[in-house]
Amino acid sequence: MTFEEFKLNPQLLNAVRDLGYETPTEIQQKSIPQVMAGHDVLGIAQTGTGKTAAYLLPLLMKVRYAQGTHPRALVLAPTRELAMQIEESLRQLAKYTDLRYAVAYGGVGPKTQIETIVAGIDILVATPGRMMDIYLKGDLVLKELKTLVLDEADKMMDMGFMPQIRRILEVIPVKRQNLLFSATFAEKVEKLSEEFLEFPVRVEATPPATPAVTVRQVLYEVPNLKTKAHLLEWLMQHDKSINRAIVFTRTRQTAENTYRFLARKLPEEQIRVIHANKGQNTRINSMEAFKEGNVRVLVATDVAARGIDVTQVSHVINFDVPLVYEDYVHRIGRTGRANQTGEAITFMTRAEQYHVEKIQKIIRMTIPREPLPEGVEIFPTPFEEEQAMAREIDEQRRREDPAFQGAFHEKKAKAQKAADAKAKKAGPKNTGPKNTGKSTGPNKSSGPKKTGKKFKAS
Ligand code: AMP
Repeated sequence: MTFEEFKLNPQLLNAVRDLGYETPTEIQQKSIPQVMAGHDVLGIAQTGTGKTAAYLLPLLMKVRYAQGTHPRALVLAPTRELAMQIEESLRQLAKYTDLRYAVAYGGVGPKTQIETIVAGIDILVATPGRMMDIYLKGDLVLKELKTLVLDEADKMMDMGFMPQIRRILEVIPVKRQNLLFSATFAEKVEKLSEEFLEFPVRVEATPPATPAVTVRQVLYEVPNLKTKAHLLEWLMQHDKSINRAIVFTRTRQTAENTYRFLARKLPEEQIRVIHANKGQNTRINSMEAFKEGNVRVLVATDVAARGIDVTQVSHVINFDVPLVYEDYVHRIGRTGRANQTGEAITFMTRAEQYHVEKIQKIIRMTIPREPLPEGVEIFPTPFEEEQAMAREIDEQRRREDPAFQGAFHEKKAKAQKAADAKAKKAGPKNTGPKNTGKSTGPNKSSGPKKTGKKFKAS
């Protein structure tokens, strides 16, 4: 199949040619004709499948040329990074048209965005929060809207954007074409599509949540945070095939700590970090440097990494296991793009095993485990970290079985009882520290010296 067969206009075909796209991807083959025919479409496609052009091309066909002042198409995205990425695709695909567009996201002042909108646009790309802000100020007229796209709808729901989306639906014309794209077809997406789409045609790139076949997945069981950090360092020092890696962490704090740790161990200019606490400019600079190949490792949180479109990522390293299980698919989808092979390495503590099992159910496969490479130093688990893991495992067991009382709490209660009895025996003069359960910790060999929160270079 070729792009010519879609009956796109010459301006769009030329832009596609300039981009070097030879054949439409699977999602493009399936969705472009449906969108062009005017149907509501539910597209299940991960990032990297060409989903952006799958909705932008027919949308550009429909909007066609500059007309009036108010936007006729709205594309909503969960994060500014994705919004920027869509803008980039829009800029490339619309370059031979006279279409006007604006992109609105938070983190920067709204002034320029509003000026662009007020000057007259045909297409608006926005994050829901910023769009609503501008609308409520009265600077955005939505009554001409004929097409609405929700990109990464699953992520929008995970990020709690549903109330904003519902409000937006209330203020836009009822008669319109709706396109909803999501990486997975989770139950919540199904519900949203019922609410939002009219007789939708469902198109799918690959079966939902099937990791790209070009990604080799590996799982390492690692006892604790400090060993994770050293395993990461070891891989960086010894595996020369890691030339462009994204290291994912669940929290900003871990991202920052991991970054600092690596910056002490490797040439600092090879490493960057992006998370929500970093300024917008720093984030953009880091992303650009990474894209250009000047940086070997990008440490990122899931949210910050949304929408990053970098080809040739050699490795995705999950420093910790994502709790939003679909994020695993998103994360590893960063590598192995466009028929290149990539590797996804996951570090798992015993407290994270529960989540890995859930992920394996979603991806319908067992992630192959490998022993830690010889030479990776294994550190004892600090007492507090061990306790925190025990508590987490209890929590997980309770989630599966609400009747479960919790081994951790039992032990703790026993220890407390014993300590109280001892204190009583010693009499009121004993002002020494209470036994806080040190002897009951699952790892007796490690003292309570370390906090377990940070890991230091040693
Ligand atoms: P997306 O899934 O929209 O994030 O797109 C992933 C990457 O695939 C982007 O770098 C696009 O420029 C690229 N791409 C989209 N469509 C095609 C195509 N038909 N042929 C080759 N590359 C494409």
